[in-house]
Amino acid sequence: MRNLEEFFLEPGCSHNGEKTEKERKKGCSKPQPGSASGGCAFDGAQITLLPIADAVHIVHGPIACAGNSWDNRGTRSSSSDYYRMGFTTDLNEINVIYGGEEKLLDAIKEAADKYKPPAVFVYQTCVPAMIGDDIVSVCKRASEELGLPVIPVDSPGFAGSKNLGNKLAGDALFRYVIGTREPKYTTPYDINLLGEYNIAGELWQIMPLFQELGINILACISGDAKYEDVAVAHRAKVNMVVCSKALLSLARKMEEKYGIPYFEGSFYGIKNTSEALRNFAKLLGSEELIEKTEKLIAKKEEETRQKLKPYIEKLKGKKVLINTGGVKSWSMVSQVQELGMVVVGTSSKKSTKEDKERMFKLLGDDGKLIDDTNPKELVKLCREHKVDVLMAGGRSKFVAIKEGIPFLDTNQERIKPYAGYDGMIVLAQELVRTIYSPVFDLYKEPPPWQY
Ligand code: SF4
Repeated sequence: MRNLEEFFLEPGCSHNGEKTEKERKKGCSKPQPGSASGGCAFDGAQITLLPIADAVHIVHGPIACAGNSWDNRGTRSSSSDYYRMGFTTDLNEINVIYGGEEKLLDAIKEAADKYKPPAVFVYQTCVPAMIGDDIVSVCKRASEELGLPVIPVDSPGFAGSKNLGNKLAGDALFRYVIGTREPKYTTPYDINLLGEYNIAGELWQIMPLFQELGINILACISGDAKYEDVAVAHRAKVNMVVCSKALLSLARKMEEKYGIPYFEGSFYGIKNTSEALRNFAKLLGSEELIEKTEKLIAKKEEETRQKLKPYIEKLKGKKVLINTGGVKSWSMVSQVQELGMVVVGTSSKKSTKEDKERMFKLLGDDGKLIDDTNPKELVKLCREHKVDVLMAGGRSKFVAIKEGIPFLDTNQERIKPYAGYDGMIVLAQELVRTIYSPVFDLYKEPPPWQY
C-alpha cells in the first residue's frame, strides 16, 4: 500500500491550505471511524475508472465488494459495455488461508483471453490487502506475459473515504496510463475534462458546444472514455477539473510534468457553462477563439432563456432543499436560482472551503448550509420552510416520501442529464413535472383502510 500522506498534502487543495502548520503535520491520513460510510476508497477508485468502458475492471476481493457497487451509477458509454460487467476474483476462505494472487493472475488471463480488452484494471480491496496479496507484482507479471497494460489500483476500502479512492485512481492513471501512447493527430485546441463521468449522458450534452468551437476533447477522464484516449491525455493544452477536488491532484501533477494549465469549473447552469467555455478560450490563448466563444455564448444563452420562459413561470418562488455533494452543492444552487427558485438550504458536508464560499455568495440570507444531513435534520428543514421539492440522492428519497414532498434524484443514479445549456431545459422540465405531479398529493392522503 502506498504512503497516503502525500494525498493529504495536496498543494492545490484549499482544504489543506486552510490548515495551520501543526494541523498539516498531523495530516488527515488516519481515516476516522465512519469516514467510509458514504462509500469506501475502493468504491471511489472504481467510480473514477469504471467509465473507461472498453477496459476490463477486475475487483480482487470477496464477491460483496463488487456486488455492492455493481452498476450503481448512471454513467453511459457510446461503445463498449465491459464496464457494466461485474468482474471479480470472488475470494473465499481457502484463498484467505493460501493467498489469492494465483486466482487473480488466472482471472486476468481469462478476461484478457475472452474479451480482448485494450487494458485491464485491477482493484485491491480490504481482504486481499490484509492477507498481503501483492497486486502490483501480479499485474506486472500478467502485463509481461500478456503484452497488455494491466493497471493495479491500490485502493482497499479501509484506506479511507470515497474521495480518497478518487485520488488513488487518479494517481494510478498518472503513474501507469497517461503518457504511455501518442495521439494519432493533435490540434491547437486539444483539451481534457477531469472528473466528468458522463452520468446519464451529460458529457454528450456539452460535446456539441466544443465541436461548434472547434475544441477537441482529447480525453474525458473518464466518462465515455476509451483506454487509448486516457493514455494520450498528456498532449492536451488545457485541463478542466469538473468534479470538485476529486481529481485536482491529477490536474496539478499533469501541470507539473506536462505543463498543462488547469482550472476548476462546472457545467451546471447557464452562467457556469458560459464561464467554463470562456476559461477554455482564454487558456487556449487565441483571440479568434475568444471571439467565437463569446458569439456562441450569446446565442446559446438567449436561446436557452427563451426556451426556459414557460418553465420559469411555473417554478418562480418555489422552495427547494438540495442535499448533494461536492461541486453540485453550489453549482446546482446557481442552476435552480437561474430558474427563479428559492434555495432554503444546501448540504455542505462534503464541500471544500471554496465550495462553501461560493454557496454563501449564492444563498445570501435566503438559505443555510447544512452540515448535518441526517434524515431528522432534513425533515426539520422541510417542515420549517414548507419545501416544495427536495433535490437529493436516492438515500434521501424516503424522507421526501414520508413527508409527502416531491423529490428529484440529482445524484449518480439519476437518469436525466442536467449539464450545459440543454441540461438546464431538461432540469426545468423535470422540476415542473415533479412539483406538479398529482402523485405527490395522492400519497399524502390516508390509505383506503383509514377512511
Ligand atoms: S473494499 Fe473493504 S470497505 Fe470497501 S466494500 Fe470491500 S470490504 Fe467493504
